[in-house]
Amino acid sequence: MSFKLQFADGQAFTQPLGKIVCVGRNYAEHAKELNNPVPSAPLLFIKPATSAVELGKPLRVNSGHGEPVHFETELALLIGEPLSHVSPEQAERAVAGIGLGLDLTLRELQSQLKEKGHPWEVAKGFDGACPLSPFVALEAIPDWPALSFTLSINGTLRQHGVVSEMLFPIPQLLAEMSRHFTLLPGDVVLTGTPAGVGVLEPDSELAFTLGDGQTSHLKVTTRVTE
Ligand code: ZN
Repeated sequence: MSFKLQFADGQAFTQPLGKIVCVGRNYAEHAKELNNPVPSAPLLFIKPATSAVELGKPLRVNSGHGEPVHFETELALLIGEPLSHVSPEQAERAVAGIGLGLDLTLRELQSQLKEKGHPWEVAKGFDGACPLSPFVALEAIPDWPALSFTLSINGTLRQHGVVSEMLFPIPQLLAEMSRHFTLLPGDVVLTGTPAGVGVLEPDSELAFTLGDGQTSHLKVTTRVTE
């Protein structure tokens, strides 16, 4: 597997990528756009490490599954310490870095599986389903609850997420995850998508930003190919 966890300054993370733990609905506006109820506890699922690719590399619209691939832009957390049944405060201190990820989804397949009450991993865990950016070391982000991120496609703003608008704030989210799965150094957590999800179109340019209003921490651009 060629994907390597690294920081924005080019330094490699000490551990290989483990699992990618994701939350299904963490922004009210996104739950609404897909006609899903707002959950009372986070809806968790896992993408395998084999789904990770570099966010800066060209993205293929053709996943080989014969249906459109949908994008969801999400804040990604790199876990730096083992977490099992921890408090929100302990969980917060274990974050080693913050970056961006795409939770690529075969929406039609996911909807069919959901209707039948089946697990929908195959719609979310295929090879290439999790492009990840490099991570900004947490020390470089003094005010991370103020972070926001954007996705523009061909110069038009499509998604805008603000950490403070998450239904389950990051410390609580990580603590809840750690009650179900031990999080290990090298695991990545995707924190849910804001509204504005859609289909990856060929020959488009995707530009991602991560900042806190004062400082831009990360900019990644990628192209979508056939
Ligand atoms: Zn998602």
